[in-house]
Amino acid sequence: MNSILDYQPTQCKHDPASDEAAITENPADAGLPRGNRLKRSLVNYPKLWENGRALKIAFMNNLDVDHKQKIIDAARHWLPFVNLCFNFVDGHQGDIRIATENNKNSAVLGTNSLLVHPDKPTMNLGVNPEHEDFEVIVIHEFGHALGAMHEHQHPNANIPWDKPKVYEFYQNREMNPLSREQIDRHIFTPFNTSDAFYLPYDKTSIMHYPVPNTLTLGNWELPINRKISKKDKEIMKLLYPY
Ligand SMILES: [Zn+2]
Repeated sequence: MNSILDYQPTQCKHDPASDEAAITENPADAGLPRGNRLKRSLVNYPKLWENGRALKIAFMNNLDVDHKQKIIDAARHWLPFVNLCFNFVDGHQGDIRIATENNKNSAVLGTNSLLVHPDKPTMNLGVNPEHEDFEVIVIHEFGHALGAMHEHQHPNANIPWDKPKVYEFYQNREMNPLSREQIDRHIFTPFNTSDAFYLPYDKTSIMHYPVPNTLTLGNWELPINRKISKKDKEIMKLLYPY
């Protein structure tokens, strides 16, 4: 177990202190790939961070060292595929602010974090660090923080949801119960294609919810994806290029 927290920023190409840049985030100047190299992706374009930027990521709660380190280690799975760096700090000041005391896992999409009140978290990681899916959940939420949307809401996903069962399941689950409106918004409604770029539907994306057969009509299921997929990597590399 680690006794000293590994807070070292990684892959920073520029001064990580330039956090005030957050206020003037300008997607038009974000170093986005040009031309026909980038077709589509599952990422919401206007929500992207400025390419090459250091993101300050704050732990709002007092977590034990191992818990923090597990979050850091999981989040860093994205770093080889993005031209960004993560600076983890304690306190309430950060582009991304993590709270762990709410009974939910969620994250604000990309630069929408800048619109959240500075006293409020932009990411909730209520998952217990001993949970078998801890790492997957943290990677998934950081995917949102980088601008990635849900793959099961891809316009070509065509998942044969058994809607009444989906409502029942997500409204009544113990961890992270969702309201009917949230279920519509986070599960059923395809994302707005005018805001987004997307590659062909990727069943293996870490941004895809697992789909139990009991929640679909006919025989359709998808186990939990535990790794950042090939397409997830491809998209992040296109959007935050070196
Ligand atoms: Zn999600």
